[in-house]
Amino acid sequence: MTEIAFTESPERQELRRQVAKLASKYGREYFTAQARSGGKTTDLWLEVGKNGYLGVNIPEQYGGGGGGIGDVAAVCEELAAQGCPLLMMVVSPAICGTVIARFGTEEQKQRWLPGLADGTATMAFAITEPDAGTNSHAITTTARRDGDEWVLNGRKIYISGIDEAANVLVVSRAEDAKTGKLKPCLFVMPTDSAGLEYHSIPMEIVSPEKQFSVFIDDVRLPADALVGDEDAGLVQLFAGLNPERIMAAAFSTGLARYALEKATAYAKERTVFQGPIGAHQAIAHPLAQSKIEIELARLMTQKAAALYDAGDDMGAGEAANMAKYAAAEAACDVVDRAVQTHGGNGITQEYGMAGLLVAARAGRIAPVSREMILNFIGMHSLGLPKSY
Ligand SMILES: Cc1cc2nc3c(=O)[nH]c(=O)nc-3n(C[C@H](O)[C@H](O)[C@H](O)COP(=O)(O)OP(=O)(O)OC[C@H]3O[C@@H](n4cnc5c(N)ncnc54)[C@H](O)[C@@H]3O)c2cc1C
Repeated sequence: MTEIAFTESPERQELRRQVAKLASKYGREYFTAQARSGGKTTDLWLEVGKNGYLGVNIPEQYGGGGGGIGDVAAVCEELAAQGCPLLMMVVSPAICGTVIARFGTEEQKQRWLPGLADGTATMAFAITEPDAGTNSHAITTTARRDGDEWVLNGRKIYISGIDEAANVLVVSRAEDAKTGKLKPCLFVMPTDSAGLEYHSIPMEIVSPEKQFSVFIDDVRLPADALVGDEDAGLVQLFAGLNPERIMAAAFSTGLARYALEKATAYAKERTVFQGPIGAHQAIAHPLAQSKIEIELARLMTQKAAALYDAGDDMGAGEAANMAKYAAAEAACDVVDRAVQTHGGNGITQEYGMAGLLVAARAGRIAPVSREMILNFIGMHSLGLPKSY
């Protein structure tokens, strides 16, 4: 039989169904109740982990499911589509899991990957700094050797979920012994390390997962906290970028599907003149437009994941950037349309539509901004000159 292109495998579709079923037991009400009361989503996180969904992309010999980034992106999307977007899925199994599985020593994989896979030892990721921002080449967190140990100093900002993490993967710079130049190096830092402090940043996102300012003050780490080879820092960082973008796209399309479903249901029921408001094209067309935009973004996300899982890092790079861009745009637009469809109810906590605005909007900023994606496409896809 000829293979049907552009559809996911039956296994992937089944994975989606199972995750959706699990997440629907929790749902949006649980997620917002936790967010508004200062609670956490630990029970959902651990149940997703226990069922093997969290670590579905992590190699089997380290407690994972042995699948690809397309599988873990499907999990992330289905959770979000049930109203439970888990940002730490982008960070812990996808970015940290990929970097450690690809570059960690055997001992490091055995130590860290099982906890990422079952969710009992989540890992945060810290690259962004207040003075460097988008320009990661300008980070100033440093790692200096002291005998057998490393000593780290620096400051990070907007670090998601460090309060819930056992470790944080810190991007730092260390002096190259041969050239004396600073090069990026990645370290796994326990979150209870002496000298590590973090403070919650008040954000407007309705989510139990928070962002933090992180202060690293003479934190001492053993030699084997450095991930893999000292000279591979840049390659390691690049390896984490495609999974990060694919997961961010899945997060956004899931959120977008949730908003569209709520808006459509409301448009079918709410009647103020003759017939439900969904009979007016002013309401129906924007929602139909969103349906198209979301499906296009999902398709590009699946393409990016398929290329990445097939080992085509270059092809995946372009597709992952496009998917991330398209997904964030689709999510911002549909959430705005969902608010409008609900009228006054769109801004109430009861209906929860306005509460999605900032989370969707964050997708245009993090983990990589829309402007930097446009820079990438301008330069790499169109061959235009670099502008910065
Ligand atoms: C909800 C959330 C969670 C996050 N989680 C994490 C995390 O877990 N770990 C982590 O390390 N970081 C995290 N971040 C940080 C995130 O990656 C950064 O916010 C993002 O990379 C942008 O950096 P910045 O905020 O410093 O903006 P800036 O770099 O100050 O940029 C400001 C604006 O200028 C634009 N700009 C900058 N340079 C250019 C250019 N050359 N061309 C065109 N436009 C440009 C940007 O696109 C942006 O619109 C998170 C951020 C948010 C909002």
